Amino acid sequence: MQNQALKDIVIVGGGTAGWMTAAALSTMLNGRYNIRLVESDEIGIVGVGEATIPMIQRFNRVLGIDEHEFMRETQGSFKLGIEFVNWGKQGERYMHGFGRLGQDLATVPFDQYWQKMRRAGKAAPLEEYSISRMAAKANRFMPARHDVPNSPLRDIAYAYHFDASLYARYLRKLAETRGVTRIEGKIARATQRQGGEHDGFVDAVVLENGERVEGELFIDCSGFRGLLIEQTLHTGYEDWTGWLPADRALAVPCESAARMTPYTSATAHQSGWQWRIPLQHRTGNGHVYCSRFISDDEAASTLLANLDGKALGEPRLIKFQTGMRKQAWNRNVVAIGLAGGFLEPLESTSIHMIQSGIQRLVDFFPDQRWSAIDREEFNRQSRFEYERIRDFIVLHYKLNQRTDSSYWLECANMAIPATLQRKMDMYRSHGRVVRVDNELFSEVGWIQVLEGQNMPIDGYHPLADTQSEADIADYLESVRGVIAQCVKVMPTHDEYIAKMCAARKN
Ligand code: FAD
Repeated sequence: MQNQALKDIVIVGGGTAGWMTAAALSTMLNGRYNIRLVESDEIGIVGVGEATIPMIQRFNRVLGIDEHEFMRETQGSFKLGIEFVNWGKQGERYMHGFGRLGQDLATVPFDQYWQKMRRAGKAAPLEEYSISRMAAKANRFMPARHDVPNSPLRDIAYAYHFDASLYARYLRKLAETRGVTRIEGKIARATQRQGGEHDGFVDAVVLENGERVEGELFIDCSGFRGLLIEQTLHTGYEDWTGWLPADRALAVPCESAARMTPYTSATAHQSGWQWRIPLQHRTGNGHVYCSRFISDDEAASTLLANLDGKALGEPRLIKFQTGMRKQAWNRNVVAIGLAGGFLEPLESTSIHMIQSGIQRLVDFFPDQRWSAIDREEFNRQSRFEYERIRDFIVLHYKLNQRTDSSYWLECANMAIPATLQRKMDMYRSHGRVVRVDNELFSEVGWIQVLEGQNMPIDGYHPLADTQSEADIADYLESVRGVIAQCVKVMPTHDEYIAKMCAARKN
């Protein structure tokens, strides 16, 4: 039996989603498909989205991207985690660091021994058992050293910060070199097949100048507007603002601080929170907030009052609605990026979801038969990913003990998804986190937020008691000591960048 392959792929939109898709497909489809990308300079891109999670390294590897060249070209810096300030109670801070916590000892996970010793007043703070967190705190960075046996230096996990516009430009160059054709123009409308087996399938997008761009598979990367998935196919959107009430962001870059921190900061304010993303040529900042609780002017004042240096322009307002498209794949349109849905950037997950959307598309790549079961599975997996990431983000809001504003009180008292309630109940019972299937955030991620925001627990794993307190104390102390020693030998983040991947000064 012969597959009847498709030939023509049209990507609608040239933001991060469009160019990541174009770069990945032009690499992975081996030149067998005709890939065109339509974008409009007049409309432009959302232009934020500058912090990532470690999985992006896999994306870069598949594309054959050289890390240092990539950092130079995008004014990038390294990211070992996210520092959360004022989230549990005001004045508190903790970090969600990448990579593992501690080292394996015996029957139960590291954190269970830590819980036992903490109850006995004999454990250091959780962060001291994570090399990423301790390195971030000391402003130090280097990639993992896999040649050093049994060392925490093997466990350094990291992601990137980069300039979103430079990232799109970088990927565009790469995709065009690999055969993608870019078409400049504003799409006025889409046309659909009438009748037959594929009634309602999109068959072309029509530009304002009248040009028709025909295709078989359309990938909607047109941003929040969802040009094909919503405006043409009316797929529908599931609104999650009941759980994640923030609906606006103001973004503004500012001059760099004296030192470039190897982590993103997320500082909670009265009615939202502010990101800080250090790059080589500037720092990116934004205030994510809920317009029911604060005006745009007040939000802008808060943002501008909390910058490292001089603002480089006026704050730019972005409105959004948290949620997901009811189907990411409808007929012959697959939505990737903001066209498919949006979860606020608290855990820097959107670019990852572009990456996983592309991977899913490759896994279930269609041919002329347009298999319904493949499409359903694609949509099931997309939903699962969205819902599980949503739960993790909602946790940060639900688990706050702030009493200084009605916003935070409302968040603490809100009803939460049943799947999140179960996770929290499970943790409360014996400090256990159960990772369901291949959900994005691992046990270590959940534990850091649960502990960082003061989740009370009723007890720890009973089998942690099978080791003596003295043995566990020695073990914890040796892990902590080795990590502290390792951090001391690491270069500072600034030194590493200056030596390996300094960008040109403009
Ligand atoms: P866009 O950038 O909006 O691109 C849409 C494209 O479609 C453009 O090229 C546009 O020209 C084109 N287009 C639209 N209509 C037409 C038309 N009619 N004709 C022709 N072309 C058209 N993600 C992270 O991973 N980390 C973060 O730190 C992060 N921070 C964020 C902060 C905020 C406030 C927001 C809103 C998002 C953030 N994101 C973050 C998400 C991230 O910005 C997006 O996932 C990413 O930029 C992808 O956007 P996009 O390509 O889907 O859409």
